[in-house]
Amino acid sequence: MSEKKTTTSKFGKPSNSGKRTTYKKAAPKPAQEKSTPSKKSRCPYFKKCGACQMIDTPYPKQLRQKHAHVAELLEPYTRVASFIGMEEPEHYRCKVHAVFTHDKKGNPLSGIYREGTHDVVPIDTCLLEDQKADAIIASIRGMLKSFKIKTYDEDNGYGLLRHVLIRIGKNTGEIMVVLVTVSPIFPSKNNFVKALLKEHPEITTIVLNVNDKQTSMVLGDKEKPMYGPGFIYDICCGMKFKISPKSFYQVNPVQQEVLYNTAIEMADLKGDEVALDCYSGVGTIGIIASPHVKEVISVELNKDAVKDAKINAKINEVKNITFYENDATRFMQQMAESGDKVDLVFMDPPRAGSTPEFIESMAALAPKKVVYISCSPDSLARDLKLIAKKGFKVEKAVPVDMFPFTRSIETVVLLKKSSVSVD
Ligand code: SAH
Repeated sequence: MSEKKTTTSKFGKPSNSGKRTTYKKAAPKPAQEKSTPSKKSRCPYFKKCGACQMIDTPYPKQLRQKHAHVAELLEPYTRVASFIGMEEPEHYRCKVHAVFTHDKKGNPLSGIYREGTHDVVPIDTCLLEDQKADAIIASIRGMLKSFKIKTYDEDNGYGLLRHVLIRIGKNTGEIMVVLVTVSPIFPSKNNFVKALLKEHPEITTIVLNVNDKQTSMVLGDKEKPMYGPGFIYDICCGMKFKISPKSFYQVNPVQQEVLYNTAIEMADLKGDEVALDCYSGVGTIGIIASPHVKEVISVELNKDAVKDAKINAKINEVKNITFYENDATRFMQQMAESGDKVDLVFMDPPRAGSTPEFIESMAALAPKKVVYISCSPDSLARDLKLIAKKGFKVEKAVPVDMFPFTRSIETVVLLKKSSVSVD
């Protein structure tokens, strides 16, 4: 697989005139701005798909608009640094999903669901998706007729193939193909695998996942490798991570490194800290931080993610990390009640943000620093208000563009314990 250059750079000025009115007047909130559908969008699927709201906005302008939005929300706390954008912002998605269906004549089609529906918009290539992944999906679609494999029909339940999911380890070159079918019986399985590998020898594993339920979930419970180990590895910030079909793993590996490096740099670790990694997923942040601290305690609600996290710690021979499967709020409350102290908290909650109870208990634990990684500036601003009331001061906020061409904004914020709380 050809590796793209993975350097990043800062785009767009930080709106550092310092004049707040400039933010407000010059740049509308991305949420309010029209999707700039020029007469002819550069994406042929723009109108039907609707996933990339900023597809026709020049990249530096996207970053300026997103910066203005987060800067306005965080204005009471800090001046937001420049957005860290991508040098090459297209084709960044290393997790690609295609729904399979057919036209009235029975010809196989693949694409994505039109927003909020189960109508399939047929797609050949996407400006966000990894091009190799798109090529593999096109090959599979092209092979179906000769192998007499029918695509699944949601209306009458006939057919076999429902979805194809591709996951790529950008830094290892490993590629996983997941074929999601309604039945475990895949006709001419070995020949199909052989033919696919002939076209794409760079595939390192193929998994058959069976999903026989009427559900909007892509993956079912049962799965079996058809070729290779059934998972791939990727490397991020020098650590190796196992990616199974269902593992949560960031979709933009270039910016994932930038995001975690930013968080670790901000934490300015000295080596003697006890760090808490809350909402830890498959353990990425805690594992990457582990060589730089005395001890990491990680908490995550999802059972499978905790299982993967333990495997990831083992693969990397990390011995100073402990994983807990628990609700982060409950865990924080228990820690606070037991009178434990920690030096640092990393928190990376889902879009909804954290809870007032979590913040209350975190304050009782009295860490010197908090590094908050947020995928929603709205819930971030809401939570910062509460955290600031507990005597923490926002020192820095750095937005990282994880999802170019969309309105999503990821921000890393450093807070330091300053004084008494203001309750
Ligand atoms: N830090 C990880 C994952 C961040 S995504 C990474 O960088 O990859 C947010 C994570 O929070 C998800 O793994 C989700 O399962 C977890 N989560 C959601 N609600 C939670 C809760 N109440 N308590 C603990 N973890 C939770």
